[in-house]
Order: sequence, then C-alpha cells, then structure tokens
Amino acid sequence: MPADRLSQVLHQYWGYSSFRPLQREAMDAVVAGRDSVVVLPTGGGKSLCFQAPALVRDGLAVVVSPLISLMKDQVDTLLGNGVPAALFNSSLSGEAKSRVMSGLRRREFRLLYVSPERLVGEGGQSFCTMLAGCGVSFVAIDEAHCISQWGHDFRPEYRQLASLKQLFPGASLHAFTATATARVRRDITTQLALEDPVELVGGFDRPNLVYRVLPRDVLKKQLLAVLERHPREAGIIYCTSRKEVDALADWLTENGHPALPYHAGLSDEERHRNQDAFLDERVELVVATVAFGMGIDRSDVRFVVHVGAPRSVEHYQQESGRAGRDGLEAECLLISSAADFMRWRVMLERNGEFTDASKTLLQQMERYAGGTSCRHRHLSEYFGDRWGKTDCGACDVCLGELESVPEPVTVARKILSCVARVGQRFGAAHITAVLRGQSSEAVVTRGHAELSTFGLLSGTSIAEVRGYIEQLSALGLLRQTGDAYPVLALTPLGSALLKDPAACPDLVLARQKPPRRDGTRTRSTAEAESWQDVDRTLFDRLREVRLRIARTRGVPPYVIFHDAALRDMARVKPTTAAALLDVRGVGARKAEDLGEEFLDAIRAHTF
Ligand code: ADP
Ligand code: ZN
Repeated sequence: MPADRLSQVLHQYWGYSSFRPLQREAMDAVVAGRDSVVVLPTGGGKSLCFQAPALVRDGLAVVVSPLISLMKDQVDTLLGNGVPAALFNSSLSGEAKSRVMSGLRRREFRLLYVSPERLVGEGGQSFCTMLAGCGVSFVAIDEAHCISQWGHDFRPEYRQLASLKQLFPGASLHAFTATATARVRRDITTQLALEDPVELVGGFDRPNLVYRVLPRDVLKKQLLAVLERHPREAGIIYCTSRKEVDALADWLTENGHPALPYHAGLSDEERHRNQDAFLDERVELVVATVAFGMGIDRSDVRFVVHVGAPRSVEHYQQESGRAGRDGLEAECLLISSAADFMRWRVMLERNGEFTDASKTLLQQMERYAGGTSCRHRHLSEYFGDRWGKTDCGACDVCLGELESVPEPVTVARKILSCVARVGQRFGAAHITAVLRGQSSEAVVTRGHAELSTFGLLSGTSIAEVRGYIEQLSALGLLRQTGDAYPVLALTPLGSALLKDPAACPDLVLARQKPPRRDGTRTRSTAEAESWQDVDRTLFDRLREVRLRIARTRGVPPYVIFHDAALRDMARVKPTTAAALLDVRGVGARKAEDLGEEFLDAIRAHTF
C-alpha cells in the first residue's frame, strides 16, 4: 500500500477527498499509537479521526461512547459504508450479544462500540479479558469531557475509565470532545493516565452557522418568520419550561407546522417516539427543553431557536451547535429578554447553585444576548480563540441586520432616568410601557403617567425599547434585582451616566433594521457557497429518494446519505456510476449499494 493509506481509506469508504482541519494530525496520532486528546468543534469530523485509522491499523478499535442511540447510528453508518463494525451494550438481546461475541472471536470487526459501563462496570473484567484476546489496537473515548467535573456533562461512570490503561496495556488511548477548556483537557489527561499525549485543539468557530439575537417581542410572529426562512427544513426550538414547550408545539402544529414536544415530563415511551419521529424525518420540528439533544445525530438540522437564554455561553454553544453538523449553512437564533436572566437567578438561588462561578457564567450569557458586535467574534473570543476576520459574513451584525442608533447617550439616559423615577422598583415591561407613553391601568394607577419620563420614547416599538434595556444590562448600566419578580435598577455606572452625559463616551446602542420592502435578506457566505450551482428541485427529489430507501431499510435517512452529499449530487449531476464516485460523501460501497436509485432520479430529472 502507498504511504497515504489514510487518504485512500477516506476516499474509498467515505467518498471524501480531503481532510478537515486537524483530522489528518489526529489520525496520524492514532496510526502511530500515540495517546491523544483531540478537541474539535461539533461537526468538525471527530468520528472519522478514529474510524479511518481503525481500517489502517491491525486489530480491533474499541470506541467508548456514552449514548446508546448514537452508537447505533454510527454503526449503521459504518456498515452502510462497508466497514465491519458492531456495538455491545445493554440494549442488545441475548442472541445479538452472542452473535457479536462470536464475531469478535473470529476477528470480523474493525470497530466495536461499547458503553463505559460495559467495560468497567459489573462483569466488565471478563469482557475486557475477552477483548484483550482479540488484539485491541486502540481505544477511542468519545465525549471525553464527561470524565471531568469541570465539563458541562460530568458522568460518574466515565471516572472508572481510569483503569483503561491497565485493562489494555498495549493499546493507545485517544480522547475526543467538542468542548474542553484547558482545565478539562488536563483533567482528561490525568484521569485516563495518558502518556505524553498529542494535544490537538481546533478552532471553535463554526463558520457555517449564522448567529442572530432578537429581543423577545411577539414570539409567535418571530417564530413564523424563522419558519418561513426554512421551509421543509429540520429545526429545534428550545424553551425553558415544559409548559411553554407543550403550548408552542400545539400552536405550531395547529398553524401548519407539525411539531412534537420533548421534555422530561413526558413518558419514556412518548419521548422516544418523538425523538425517533424527528430522526426518521417523519417530523421536521421539535420543541424541547434542554433534555433534548445529547444523542441527536441528525446532521441536517438547519436551525436552532432558543426561546429564552440558557444559563451560560457554554450551554448556548452546545445547544445551538446541534445545527449544521453536516457543514452546510444553518441558523442559530436567540430570542431573549431581560426576564430570562432573572428567572435563572431565582432558580439557581432556589437550588443553592448561585455560586460565584454560575453568576459569572450567567452574566457572560447576558453580555452575549445584549451584545451588538460580531457574534462569531464574541463566541470565539469567549472560548479563547483569536479572531482575525473583520466581517464574519454570518451574523446579524455583520450581515447588516442591525443599525446603530443615533444619539445613543440620549436614548440611554431616557431609559436610565425612567428606571430612577419609578424608584427602581419595576421590571422591563413596566419601564417600557411608561417610556412608550402607554396609559395602561398599571401605569396610570401608580401615577406613572404623570412622570416626566412618560412617553419619552413614544413611537418606538416595544421590541426596540426592550432591546435597549437588554443592551444596557449587558453593558453594565442596568441590572436586574428582586426576588419574586424582576426589577430594574441602576448600577454605579448607570448612575454615573445619568449625572454626566460624558461618562460613557463609547456607548453604542443598536436596533433591528426594518425588513426590506421586497422581503429579501442577505444570505450568509456559507449559504451562498453551499447552494452554488445546486439544482434545488433535483436536491428535493433526491431527498425523497433517500427517504424512501430509509423507510424500506428501517434506518434514519442520514444513515443513507447526508444532505451535503445530496447537495453535491444535485450540483455535479452524475449520470454514470463512475461519475457518482466523484461526489463528496459517496464511497465505493454506497455507490454500489445505492447508486442506481439515485442515478435513476438524476437521469429522469436531467433528460
Ligand atoms: P463531530 O463528531 O465532530 O461532531 P462528525 O464526525 O459527526 O462530527 O462529522 C460531521 C459531518 O462531517 C459528518 O457528516 C461527516 O461525514 C462529515 N465529515 C467528516 N470528515 C469529513 C471530510 N474530511 N470531508 C467531508 N466531510 C466530512
Ligand atoms: Zn459577524
């Protein structure tokens, strides 16, 4: 075999002709048998980093993965690509287990997926001895941050993986995760007793994601606008309460956008049913609490909306990151209001979790929500990446959807003075009503219609005023206090600006630009590129073919082909088996197995 076995394997089995950033380095470490810690963003292509080397190295690759549903998808995908793989976990029947066992003894598999309990839990010892007899060449630990208490998803059973080095003395260990601060990386290295590991840390930025932030206004209108941008596309809408999940899912369904709810209050059965419906493309929309997500391997999620801010930027990145894992353009929209942060404070306090750390995390989330600078830059810098670009071409700020407000100091002072005039005893909704000059009962009975600040911002929309209030909070001029319900108060900096208009010389406030009259919008760079030369009708047609095959075979459609492959097909329009192999994401096995059905559709469309 030539030196570049990896490229060959990548092309033959997966139909890819190039490596994603750091994939090559990560694979080289595995092939060389050097322990490694690899941090790549979601969608960065971590799985391939251990799957391709498993075909290059002799022996068996063991993959430890915490999620049974993910394991199954990965193994199905591998089998579809012609890679002999199996899984072993508690979901298997006795019969299936003995089938896998005898396959292992015959050394049929290149990869074996197991749950951590299987290796280090009860009965793990004898299982490992059996595996060791099969010549384990390396162990890949997926979602490795679960081993650290400093990660966002600590799982005690991962701690026991500390014994892997003893269990498989000859094997190299390779840890993979999408989110790891330096502290978590160190923790992974110590816990797993890695020996002089190669550390590879990719950039966190996901250029294909378009980030937007909207102050919460008429929510349903805001949601319909998102759905209009994504007809027939998959999306997740995250809410903070189960009640809101149920209500929104019902409302969307009644309004022609079939959506299923997902939260911890549903029965196990109903949750599984709804999740499967989403994975099998029987429904495109899920309204969920954060309980939904780990284990979602649907890579063509085209939008993730947060109705309400999460409790940290880490959470936001994790949840919004479920969009666009296939590398194609996707949208991440945060619809937030000042009340979200208050709700978190109350909740964290009630649970005794309102520590300095969680306070800081929440404040940083608030800063993101109220920010008016490039979102990609904000997120990158938050996670410690340097940001070199001036215009990301993929956020509301850089796409010119916001405009800066003339005389921001004057606007800010109007708001601050209204907060002061009502005695710092009212929330954002009330302040907004007073500033807009609304003679509602709440305003009138308290005598707030008589205030000099009444109507100072009349003619400004609710969303705009709320947006300013959030920005002022993010900038540290206002803060939310109060126990039972959120109350706005001035910070020392806010008071300073009220006394002296020159106190914040660099103050900037922004608002949404009105939508264009012709209803069009600027497309992100990623969106424009990924649709370049794609025949959209053919793409839709190919998705139907995929769905039909998936239904017949009883697998989720993305196990057949990812959207990225279908889009490339609808761009290249191959009509021969040979040409089909040039499509990105079509390997030899799939071309042979599925090629004709897709070629038929392409021929029918082009002639
Ligand atoms: P991660 O586990 O890092 O979130 P995955 O391994 O699921 O990412 O990969 C995300 C997507 O990118 C998958 O659809 C995968 O097939 C695709 N992919 C991975 N590596 C490449 C590559 N070198 N070229 C093209 N697509 C790739
Ligand atoms: Zn930007």
